[in-house]
Amino acid sequence: MYEVVELEAVRARHHLTVARWSRPDDEPRTPEEQSLFDRCKPKASDSPYTDPVPLLPVAQLYARDVPGLPVPNGTDLLQILWCPFMDHDDDIPAIHVRWRRADQVTALLSSPPEPPVIELEDYWPAPCVLHPEQVTEYPAPTQLPAELRRRVDAWQEETGLHYTQFAVAPGWKTGGWGVVPSDFADAADPPRCGCGTAMEPLFTLGLSEWNEDDEGGWRPLEDTAAADDQNGYPPAGDPTLINLGGEELQIYYCPQSYEHPPVTVRVYRTL
Ligand SMILES: [Zn+2]
Repeated sequence: MYEVVELEAVRARHHLTVARWSRPDDEPRTPEEQSLFDRCKPKASDSPYTDPVPLLPVAQLYARDVPGLPVPNGTDLLQILWCPFMDHDDDIPAIHVRWRRADQVTALLSSPPEPPVIELEDYWPAPCVLHPEQVTEYPAPTQLPAELRRRVDAWQEETGLHYTQFAVAPGWKTGGWGVVPSDFADAADPPRCGCGTAMEPLFTLGLSEWNEDDEGGWRPLEDTAAADDQNGYPPAGDPTLINLGGEELQIYYCPQSYEHPPVTVRVYRTL
């Protein structure tokens, strides 16, 4: 027996909630609104899987918008999709990576196939647009040369600040360095492809776009005006509403060949 939610109800409730947030007062729900909220509750299902299970689109990036986006020669579009059930080896949605040529996508489906139910509402990415911002990240402490790492350790001790909070951008991103769980973990080696090559970060489904606190950190440039509105819906720092239980997913690709299968790594980090 599985617990699932109706995708269409989750989407409709999202749009309703966005609309309600734009109203000045906290008006009581109408009976129709209440019944929509009720429809979003998890329901038991014996067989939630259709055959095949349509994937959910998670991200779509054009190479022209994202400097340095890894794309095979002759392609200019990266699409990330996932299966909306966690019944896979790692208890996370199975990721599918597609590179395409945008000009070859001609016949658009007016109603793309989608799963009638999904495992968790947290697996449905709320629609949002991208404001790409290029930033510089630095390697995990364990990937730094020994002398530099000693200086970083000394700096952390002296200031009480955490290197990772400043060195690794939070949020959804392409490229960068591998996410590390914390300053103290040594899981900094990138995964290796079956061909033996060290893989490189392709795309990260992060937590909040912000990790800023009184001592500093990251916040997207365009979120300045929203700085005090973290209670809005959706929250300014979390436009996708994806929640993977506090974990991030980092997708790696093999620089040797785009034909080699990408690898997904789950990461829990504290900063
Ligand atoms: Zn490879």
